[in-house]
Amino acid sequence: MDPEQARIEEDLRGIVAGEVLCDDVGRGLYATDGSLFEQRPLAVVRPRSTDDVAATVGWAAERGISLHARGAGTSLCGGGLGGGIVIDCSRFMRRVVGVDGDRVRVQPGIVAGRLDAMLGRRRRMLGPDPANAAVTTIGGMIGRDASGSRFLRHGSIRGRIESAEVVLADGSVIELRPTEPVARPAAVPGSGISAASPDRLGELAAGVAAILDRRHDVIARYQPGGRATHGGYRLHDLQVDGRVDLPRLFCGAEGTLGIVTAATLATVPQDPASAVGLLLFDSLEAAAEAALRILPLGPSACDLFDRRHLALAREARPSFDLLIPPVAEAGLLIEFAAAEPADCNARLEQALALMRRGRRGCIDVRRADDAHDAAFFWELSRNVVSTIHGVRAEMRPVPFLEDIVVPPPALPDFLGRLQTVLRQEDATAMIFSHAGHGELHVRPHANPRAAGERARLESLAAAVYEHVAAVGGSIGAELGLGWSRTSAFARLFPDLAAVFAEVKRVFDPAGLLNPGRVVPGEDPLPLFRRPLSGRAVAEGQGVVDGDEPLAEREPEIVPLTTWSRERLVVETDACNGCGGCRSLAPTTRMCPRYRENPAEEATPRAKADVMAALLSGELDPKAASGDAVRAVADTCFNCHRCRSDCAAGVDIPALVMELKAAHYAANSTRLAPWLISRIDAVAALAGRVSPLANWALANPQARWVIEKVTGIARGRKLPPVSGTTFLRWAARRGLTRPSRRSGPRVLYFLDTYARRHDPLLGQAFVSVLERNGIGVFIDPRQQASGMPLVSEGDLDGARRLARANLRVLSEAVRLGYRIVCTEPAAVTCITHHYPLLLDDEEAARVAAATCDAATYLWELHREGRLRLDFRPVPARILYHGGCHERIDPGMMPAENLLRLVPGLSLDTTDHGCSGMAGTFGLSREHYRASLRMGLGLVNGMRSAGIEAGATACSACRLQMEQGTTKPAIHPVKILARAYGLLEGPPPSGLDNLFSAVSGRLTAS
Ligand SMILES: Cc1cc2nc3c(=O)[nH]c(=O)nc-3n(C[C@H](O)[C@H](O)[C@H](O)COP(=O)(O)OP(=O)(O)OC[C@H]3O[C@@H](n4cnc5c(N)ncnc54)[C@H](O)[C@@H]3O)c2cc1C
Ligand code: SF4
Ligand code: SF4
Repeated sequence: MDPEQARIEEDLRGIVAGEVLCDDVGRGLYATDGSLFEQRPLAVVRPRSTDDVAATVGWAAERGISLHARGAGTSLCGGGLGGGIVIDCSRFMRRVVGVDGDRVRVQPGIVAGRLDAMLGRRRRMLGPDPANAAVTTIGGMIGRDASGSRFLRHGSIRGRIESAEVVLADGSVIELRPTEPVARPAAVPGSGISAASPDRLGELAAGVAAILDRRHDVIARYQPGGRATHGGYRLHDLQVDGRVDLPRLFCGAEGTLGIVTAATLATVPQDPASAVGLLLFDSLEAAAEAALRILPLGPSACDLFDRRHLALAREARPSFDLLIPPVAEAGLLIEFAAAEPADCNARLEQALALMRRGRRGCIDVRRADDAHDAAFFWELSRNVVSTIHGVRAEMRPVPFLEDIVVPPPALPDFLGRLQTVLRQEDATAMIFSHAGHGELHVRPHANPRAAGERARLESLAAAVYEHVAAVGGSIGAELGLGWSRTSAFARLFPDLAAVFAEVKRVFDPAGLLNPGRVVPGEDPLPLFRRPLSGRAVAEGQGVVDGDEPLAEREPEIVPLTTWSRERLVVETDACNGCGGCRSLAPTTRMCPRYRENPAEEATPRAKADVMAALLSGELDPKAASGDAVRAVADTCFNCHRCRSDCAAGVDIPALVMELKAAHYAANSTRLAPWLISRIDAVAALAGRVSPLANWALANPQARWVIEKVTGIARGRKLPPVSGTTFLRWAARRGLTRPSRRSGPRVLYFLDTYARRHDPLLGQAFVSVLERNGIGVFIDPRQQASGMPLVSEGDLDGARRLARANLRVLSEAVRLGYRIVCTEPAAVTCITHHYPLLLDDEEAARVAAATCDAATYLWELHREGRLRLDFRPVPARILYHGGCHERIDPGMMPAENLLRLVPGLSLDTTDHGCSGMAGTFGLSREHYRASLRMGLGLVNGMRSAGIEAGATACSACRLQMEQGTTKPAIHPVKILARAYGLLEGPPPSGLDNLFSAVSGRLTAS
């Protein structure tokens, strides 16, 4: 950090109680959002209170430094980026301040979906429903005047805001509410309103009222009442009963008039009933015309999808294949909401009948029969939008010109014009529209990091916008003007843009609040994201904010895994910054670490951002081995949830592996992490003196010493080590030689837990396989998978184990064995990490032949080869699918198998991540965080009626037993018990025989 930067950090730390980031890595995390732009801020402040925001703004105002409010950073037009101070309200200012009847007072950082979940418990909701409600903040929604598919019913957040506390450009704090102008401000518009003014609120209202009066004609011409929405300040309806509605003016102001630090919002009752249908058409225009005919029936939503969108949906989810025939050129999702089901059903039927009767290009109509169907249809609007952003190809649909609104009757005509322009410009685009109110998201295919692409996009946008203006439309309606559209808006509507500039001057005469958004700034537009090669500077890319020109740097990020640099670049580039991984929704699990510590650096996207900064040369390559990069990488504990939950499927765990490896290779590691990453060797040693080791594990004083030496938390319940090794048992049974059985054969890959702690698990698995006629081979040369080494970044150590295991496993695969493991994390290590560790074709072959025990047994069942002569096991158990088990979406084989056992009653409520992640939850450093993450699961175990837990993951089992006396059991053991294969008392339920902590089968 240079001295100037250090001084800024010191100054800001002195005046705010929140966090200040001034280092290169921290600032880099805030240099991008969901848009194509990139600009590193001077500093980032994460305020804890309004006072922190006010102090920061005051400090910056004195120095003429710009300020950029930020929520989740999902803006698609660069709304919250900037070269000054970014104020991230999402970290600490995320509270519901109070609920009063049908009003709620919130801080700006609260996530909309969370607020709605809280309101839902009172059968109320906010209403406006952006597709990314699971991550977007209320501050961002206000900044953007966000709305969603149900705009027709609920409008945008502008219709909900009643008052707002804001920090103005000089650092003063004011509560905005609809206000009568006190007097025409003495100051002429342009000089701002003085903070010392006794009735500042009234004077601000007067400043705005004066503009509304003076520029009434322009406003009425460009913002006719009744039209859905448009970009920039919305002025046409601001004055009601002589009062100026200042809170509403702030909706859509993109942080250019002040920073919202609290808001009071009106809530509405939840829609009690809804009915959903999907209509398919042979052309886009036919779908748009159908939307117009349906509108008089009062739909709550009416979304239109083009052929490419439908094709992507079919690719993303095979079940859409059955729903949407490839001949469909367009689709229309319609929803009717009402107080009575009969009412919305009747209107949906009318709409469907209208289509069936008139046809006019309608090739199919589908009705959602139940809530499950409806949710499935809605995925077309909700999830496919994020999937679009993750298309892996050089040319892919990008956000830039996508935010267009036209009067709905003009939509069919405009769609025709749009397609003509696309043809003329030789461009391809994806089209998605909230057709009911004429909002269009047009995403052209482009490679924004390539030379010349920006100019091409700008020229395409200009050509399209001419037609927007010609049909009476506007731009920046839903997603904002931001950096993408502010200049274009000013060119299209210069008179209105001049009015916006006057409004801006009332609040921010010095132009410090988010300059360049809504009102064009003096500085040139920032650059698109930098090319990731780092070696060549694309045309139009170059120096930012006085940074060293990229061409002069030669970043040398040489992948330490087997990735070629190109593949590393492609994977990093696949993260589009959509922010989906900030989700706190219970419907996804990513990212457990972010959920526990909701800071930007803990997001999966932060890892891609850091890698991108290294690959582009924005970060000095030497930083790769530095502690700041390692600190970001360490916020990932390798659970792999993001690999399946991120719509773009970015392989964040592999990027993290790369980052940790760079650090590990250059730094000596501390003893405790070193020992924990070698937990297998430690357990092997302990096994040799198992009576002593197990005494120590149970003795508080000895645990204190163990904690000091190894870093393993003394509060963590640990499984005893086993003195009798499983391999000895296997050898006695002749299993350590290749199986002589004909037919299907399995090489059982043991990994640490079954080998060192719970030989009974291995015995149970072998007996279940043998019961089903499967030949078993347990090659004694196999070693631990090496997952803890991968998680630590010790790739040399992990590679040694991988190589040794691969020799054994590939030989078995050649002989026709499947590799099956009772530990899901070991499966992930073999299938995902080994191919990245070893440049060896065998690694891919072995990966393809490897699976976990439940997957293998479920496959047997599907082939009709699993014996079903189970005895009843009368018990109620909580089943927990560990993160590594759930990498393949929709696959829950262990749960399915347990459902085959008579008498067993399963509670499959998803309580989220257990917080263990292999060795993470063992360490003293992370013990408490691990408990916080796993609290939901532990509480689930504590529930009355639950007798035991079941999960295949050994680490999750430890957590499940941590706060309870109930046992957590591997599903394979339950199957063995149901087959009557385990010794012990008659299977009259689940007794403590199965405790993972006791680790052995003993008669009670
Ligand atoms: C996959 C995806 C789907 C989307 N779907 C929709 C959609 O359906 N509807 C929709 O409207 N938008 C949508 N968006 C665009 C965008 O995410 C939303 O507009 C969102 O509301 C922005 O919220 P945020 O918390 O991410 O804010 P940010 O992106 O951080 O900020 C957005 C704007 O608000 C300003 N701002 C943030 N906090 C404050 C504050 N405290 N005070 C004043 N100004 C502030 C910022 O300066 C910026 O100009 C989508 C984006 C993505 C990536
Ligand atoms: S990691 Fe995935 S979900 Fe997160 S920002 Fe990147 S693309 Fe979006
Ligand atoms: S692997 Fe898990 S911890 Fe790591 S970034 Fe992904 S979801 Fe978060």
